[in-house]
Amino acid sequence: MDKSVVGYTLYSVVWQKRGLPHAHILVWLVDKIRPDEIDSIISTEIPDETVDPKLHTVVTKHMIHGPCGDLNCNSPCIVDGKCSKPYPKDLIAETITGNDGYLLYRRRSVANNGRSVVVKIRRQNVDVYNRWIVAYPPILSKAFETHINVEYCNSMGRYVSSNEAICRIFSFAIHKKYPTVVHLAVHLENGQRAYFNEWNAADRAARPPSTTLTSFITVCQTDDFSRTLLYADMPRYYVWNASSKSFHRRRQGTPIERHPNIYECYLRLLLVYVRGPTSFEQLRTSDSNWDDTLKDSVISSSPHQIHVLHRVHRQTLNPTLQRTAEMNNETLIMIENMCLLMAKKVLSCLGMTVNNRHVHDALNHEWQREQHYDTEALAETVRTNVPQ
Ligand SMILES: [Zn+2]
Repeated sequence: MDKSVVGYTLYSVVWQKRGLPHAHILVWLVDKIRPDEIDSIISTEIPDETVDPKLHTVVTKHMIHGPCGDLNCNSPCIVDGKCSKPYPKDLIAETITGNDGYLLYRRRSVANNGRSVVVKIRRQNVDVYNRWIVAYPPILSKAFETHINVEYCNSMGRYVSSNEAICRIFSFAIHKKYPTVVHLAVHLENGQRAYFNEWNAADRAARPPSTTLTSFITVCQTDDFSRTLLYADMPRYYVWNASSKSFHRRRQGTPIERHPNIYECYLRLLLVYVRGPTSFEQLRTSDSNWDDTLKDSVISSSPHQIHVLHRVHRQTLNPTLQRTAEMNNETLIMIENMCLLMAKKVLSCLGMTVNNRHVHDALNHEWQREQHYDTEALAETVRTNVPQ
């Protein structure tokens, strides 16, 4: 998108029940849209077929809501006998800016130069007026030739009601979690997250704050009981004190346990395997056979696959797994995707075995379809259709 027009964007792609993807996109513009510009950017009217036949086709095909209600009582928008959206909208001669941040868009009546179009609903011809048009951006509608609903929003404030204010002033409990959940940090040695500023950076580097994991290791150095425990068992017998950043023996309350939130899969697996580690070094060297198998799998597998491997290992005690050429290739592609993400380099640049992406991509139709989207033609359509 054009940086001089668009300040920030935020989007989220969601899938409907039948699998159709659609995106919700929030766009902050560098220059605010002036009230007199709105009608040229957002429209809720049937365009003139003689002036812009392409836009007319897109709007009549994709931007008519329903029709629902008396015209079609089985429309999916009908909830308790009423349109949930709610259509048909009132006809308005001019766009009106509302106080709640939403607009009432211009929807002219036929008597006031508004247009109508005849559409077929259940084999019947129905006259559709501007009451039924979903707000659309003419330029983007023409560029993408699809359903694009757009709404203008000029305030994002939050209203705090008097009873919410009272609850907050008196510090009443607003959220509750039961049982308590302890987030167990998982990181490699000296790999914990640390926050610092220019004044305390040297101190933080010399004495990084302890985490649940480093505290677990520290406790194991002096406490015989803790040495019988797995990391995930710690919250069952010890309480994590977030302010002193240390574990203390539990005196009361209900046992709690929680799996660590993981990125370091390898370490995570060692943590569910090794009891009472007294150092990171000991964690890594506790059982060399299983260790090597894990190290191999970390190089060649996704976290999910490592998890499967771990289960296979536990259930069969047989760490040898047959691998096919396709498995190797898929694995190399996954590794390469990560390398591209982290270092913007393909495997050949990193001195690693080259994968066969061609075989992979030939199978990946969706990826190919996306690649064939003609972004230049779309950009050209936008450029040549900017309203005068
Ligand atoms: Zn409806």
